[in-house]
Amino acid sequence: MFTIKGKTTDWEVVIGLETHIEVLSNSKLFSGASADYNPTVAPNTQACMIDVAMPGMLPVLNKYCVEQAIKFGLGINAEISKHSKFARKQYFYPDLPQGYQISQPAEEPPVVGRGWVEIIGDDGNPKKILIERAHMEQDAAKNKHDMHPTKSFVDYNRTGVMLLEIVTFLDTKNPENNSYITSPDEAERYLRQIREIARALGVSKANMEEGSMRADVNVSVRPVGSKTFGTRTETKNMVSFKFIKNAIEYEAKRQVEILENGGTVSQDTMRYHQDDGTTSVLRSKEDALDYRYFPDPDLLELEITDEYIERIRKTMPELPSATRARYVNEYGLSEYDANRLTETVDISHWYDAAVSSKKERAKPVANWMISELFAHPENFDIENQIKENSDPDAPRIITPETLAELVDMIASNEINGKQAKEIFIKMLDGERGTIHEIADKYGMKQITDTGAIEAAVDEVIKNNPSQVEQYKSGKLGLLGFFVGNVMKATKGQANPAMVSDLLKQKLG
Ligand code: ADP
Ligand code: MG
Repeated sequence: MFTIKGKTTDWEVVIGLETHIEVLSNSKLFSGASADYNPTVAPNTQACMIDVAMPGMLPVLNKYCVEQAIKFGLGINAEISKHSKFARKQYFYPDLPQGYQISQPAEEPPVVGRGWVEIIGDDGNPKKILIERAHMEQDAAKNKHDMHPTKSFVDYNRTGVMLLEIVTFLDTKNPENNSYITSPDEAERYLRQIREIARALGVSKANMEEGSMRADVNVSVRPVGSKTFGTRTETKNMVSFKFIKNAIEYEAKRQVEILENGGTVSQDTMRYHQDDGTTSVLRSKEDALDYRYFPDPDLLELEITDEYIERIRKTMPELPSATRARYVNEYGLSEYDANRLTETVDISHWYDAAVSSKKERAKPVANWMISELFAHPENFDIENQIKENSDPDAPRIITPETLAELVDMIASNEINGKQAKEIFIKMLDGERGTIHEIADKYGMKQITDTGAIEAAVDEVIKNNPSQVEQYKSGKLGLLGFFVGNVMKATKGQANPAMVSDLLKQKLG
């Protein structure tokens, strides 16, 4: 359990995260303008009249965005509300031309209601983190203050792109229900889980460095064993796992110090300073913004049918957590291997393509991928984007089919493991062709003919009488010496298992 050592008692930390992910869609949440706001697009070329709030412009809900929200909701095991609303959240800032953000009301369930994700808790066991809601809202524009000494600029391309805000749940009525985040590491694991689900479903790139995932971090502390929650602070707009973990730790220690000195924590909104890892008050509770939420009169309420939800559910790919379970339960992989092979959806697709439902391939393919693919990413077309290049100097792209062929040839004793490794290295060096072709070209055939192996074994036994004597008198470790010599005599082509068996037989 993560605790902060105090002077008189240990303190535990309670964390609530409000995570924003930028949703992938062609057009914006309420307008037809392109939702591609990336920095290579010229400023203010992808904002239409609706986005910049010209008088008389009316928002039209983008159905695909709703579908994205529902998809994500199903991915976090959430209740999908059949009925939800849009509300105006008022505030004034140049990055919000309407003077309000269209969001979903705070006091009613939004399109995605109560759900949960599973993480590995600090005790090493699976832990459910409850989610209160995920609601749809508009992103704001981007202010640019650093381009000119006396002017600021606003780029409205991002205005109105859909955000999904995912809020974790704290069950204040049931303090025994500890399904919430209680350490910086758990916060990171939770965010990684959200990211993984968003990416697997194609709902968001959920990339903190790019700003397509950001989090507000609520932190409170209480003495270990206490049944009530402390007053929290909220640190806004965090964009890296490292900063989030630092901010949690800093805030928790700051609060402990206040409480141990007889003070009270004020429910403030904080700002994090990257340079020194501290926080300071951005808005005190007294200055809390009054958003004056009210239903948006320009938008109909959102009605969703069971059939619609089921139709979306049918299009959903397998989520990484389910993929991992399948690898462990059906293919007998270790948790470690299953984790490595589900690090991204592209990796698990590559693995599935190579295994191609043939269970006997599952383990060898996993071993080759984990030991070789991750070491030579330039040789694996993991994102399935590079087409085999005719330039002989370009790195050879090893396909799932090629790895499957290699693994199958070892299994059928056509080549041995050592030869497979040699072929593999040749491919890394640019060798083209199928595994069979390469094996033929270099005369790499495994000798499984018992007669031929027997002849080589007899020869080696005849030529090493003193070692034979030592072996017979108990020095069994010499078996490796004999195997090595037989392999050498057969130019590495004998089946090592057969060699070893024959030697054991003959040496008695
Ligand atoms: P607001 O609307 O002011 O942002 P919410 O009630 O929606 O507040 O809560 C925001 C987040 O803060 C949620 O994730 C919630 O679980 C979390 N939270 C609420 N109370 C506490 C607390 N005492 N300690 C830590 N986190 C809290
Ligand atoms: Mg909030």
